[in-house]
Amino acid sequence: MICGKCGANLPDGSQFCTVCGNSLEAPSASAPPVQTQYYAPAARSGGFSIFGVILLIIGAALAVSWLASFVYNIVTFGAPSDIWSVINSYLTNIGIGAGIMGIGAALNKLGK
Ligand SMILES: [Zn+2]
Repeated sequence: MICGKCGANLPDGSQFCTVCGNSLEAPSASAPPVQTQYYAPAARSGGFSIFGVILLIIGAALAVSWLASFVYNIVTFGAPSDIWSVINSYLTNIGIGAGIMGIGAALNKLGK
């Protein structure tokens, strides 16, 4: 076997390097469990993303503001003659808002 620190050629099963004194068993035996314990809590605390929250707010604001302006225009000026095209664009804007909210929700779920 080869010492990972100094590269000396050592008998198989050596616990210490006879050249530099490097411990040969400790790194490979203890490092992986330490990494697993380190990443497990991080994965559990995921599910929150500031970028996802921002997208959720933007999507909700788009949908709500368009709905508010739609209601305001109807109340102020009455129903337009081409109300179906207005409703169609209303649904389009709601769809865009919902899509942005969906991306934000997905980011939250991924925790990115
Ligand atoms: Zn060594």
